[in-house]
Amino acid sequence: MAPFGSADPKTVSRLMSAMTKLAVWALREGYDLDLEALLDGAVIEAFAATLTSSQATWRSSLRSIAKANQVETEETLSKFARPVLQGPYETTEVAALIFFARALTNKNRAYAIEAAVLLGAGAGIARGDLRLVTAANLHDHVGALHVAVAGRCVPVLPGYDNELRALAAKCPNGPLIGKVKGDEATVNITRWVGVRPGTPAFSTDRLRATFICTHLNMGTGTRELLAITGLNSIDALDSYYRFVEPLAVECDVVSRGN
Ligand SMILES: [Zn+2]
Repeated sequence: MAPFGSADPKTVSRLMSAMTKLAVWALREGYDLDLEALLDGAVIEAFAATLTSSQATWRSSLRSIAKANQVETEETLSKFARPVLQGPYETTEVAALIFFARALTNKNRAYAIEAAVLLGAGAGIARGDLRLVTAANLHDHVGALHVAVAGRCVPVLPGYDNELRALAAKCPNGPLIGKVKGDEATVNITRWVGVRPGTPAFSTDRLRATFICTHLNMGTGTRELLAITGLNSIDALDSYYRFVEPLAVECDVVSRGN
C-alpha cells in the first residue's frame, strides 16, 4: 500500500478492502500469500471471475495496486468475467487449452497443462486431487479407462481416454501434472496459460464443471454422479444444473404445431 501513501483515506480503504478480499480468496484456493504472485494478471482475473457485477470495482482496484507496485498485468478482455468462468468450458475451449499446451517447447509445462485439462474435463478431478494422479492410477474396467483417486474410481469420458493413455505413457513416473507441493501446480498452470486471445483462462473449477455438466447432459444417474465426483450431496450439484440443456422434442405432433 506504500505507493498510495498520499491517496485520500477513502481510496486507500477501497484498495485495502479489495486486497483483503483477494487474500481471503487466495488462501481458500491454496495460493501463497506472495504479493507479486497475487497481483499477477491471471490470478486477478481468476479472482475477478468469482465476483458479482456489483463487486467488479475490486478488479480495477487490484489492477491499480498491481500497477503501482510495478507488477506486470496483461491487458485482458472483460469477456472472461462471471458467469462464463463459473460454467463449463465449450468443447472448442478445452481443445484450445490442449492445443496451447502441445505448442509449448517446455515439455514439463506442456505435460502438466495437458494432464490438468484431461483429468479435469475428462474425469472431473478437483484441484486438490490432481497431484495424486500418476500413470499407475489409470486402469481399465472392461476396456474402459478409469482413474483411481481419493477412494473413487472415475470412468474417463470418451474423447479423453486415448489422449490420457498417450500422456501417461510419456509420464510413467510421478504425478502426471509434475512433482510440486500443494496447489503450486495449478497456480503455475494458471500463470503459464495466462489470458490470451484464442485461449481461455485456465480454471480447474471450470474443467470439473465441464465433466459434471457433460454427465448431467448425458443423463448419468445421481448416485453414480455423486460417487464419481466425490460430491457429498445433491445440493452440491445445484450450481451445475443451470447449465443443463433440455432434450430436443422429438414428436411429430408437436412439430406439426399441435
Ligand atoms: Zn477401478
